Amino acid sequence: MDYGLKGQVAVVTGSTSGIGQALAQGLAAAGVGIVLNGFGDPETIEQDRAALELTAGVPVRYHGADMTKADQIADMIAFAEKELGRLDILVNNAGVQHVSPIEDFPIAKWDQIIAINLSSAFHTTRAAIPIMKAAGRGRIVNLASAHALVASPFKSAYVAAKHGIAGLTKTAALELAEHGITCNAICPGYVKTPLVEMQIADTAKARGMTPDQVMKDVILAAQPTKKFVEFNQLTGLLLYLVSDAGASVNGALLSVDGGWTAA
Ligand code: NAD
Repeated sequence: MDYGLKGQVAVVTGSTSGIGQALAQGLAAAGVGIVLNGFGDPETIEQDRAALELTAGVPVRYHGADMTKADQIADMIAFAEKELGRLDILVNNAGVQHVSPIEDFPIAKWDQIIAINLSSAFHTTRAAIPIMKAAGRGRIVNLASAHALVASPFKSAYVAAKHGIAGLTKTAALELAEHGITCNAICPGYVKTPLVEMQIADTAKARGMTPDQVMKDVILAAQPTKKFVEFNQLTGLLLYLVSDAGASVNGALLSVDGGWTAA
């Protein structure tokens, strides 16, 4: 399918793993040059970067900005424009989780989650806006969560950050609408990535359950389909949003959660 995206350039934060990696692969397959970002083993990151460049036939670069550091984030956005000549699409995806009752929640974890899951999207967006305004077009897509719409116990920082991302998404949408720039949030239910695998163990501890019980009674119990959300279901929505067909979808919080938040 041709989404009309060939030659465009995207920055995808947190794209060395999980959802971000899948979204970067989906954009590259549609002809979009990519700046990858995220942590991991440098050799593996370089292998993945080179493989994506080869299979998709688009330029792929890597920038290791730490999403808790405003100056590194600004440098990453400048790097995208300098290396690849433009910036059409920004996908704010980097995110971490910590599961704990509020009274035991480590202060450093709270600060880290708010920085990575919320403030980093402010820093990328503020740096990308002048480039997109000058081009008269742009697409910003925030990977929020079902937890941008509803809460779960023991995830105070994550739920607060994701509700914050919902507010940032709507505000950016209103500010940028007349400049041909849209800002939307994708709100997935559970997707089987390293972030969720780690949560299964942590939730088991917090709730006094076995990992199997958590999977069945907590995780998949939340999703009426009783199935994890698949990567291609998120990539399909992203490609629509960033294409010309998505031009009138703006400020939307789009659930991809098997019906979780319908209840
Ligand atoms: P993941 O753990 O597989 O990937 C997270 C990515 O973020 C990795 O590339 C990691 O290196 C990067 N990252 C973490 N800290 C960083 C930092 N300080 N600077 C730069 N990069 C950093 O997680 P995932 O499940 O793919 O989650 C991706 C996004 O989707 C997150 O925002 C998450 O909240 C959201 N989400 C996930 C699920 C799910 O079920 N997996 C559901 C809803 C929303």
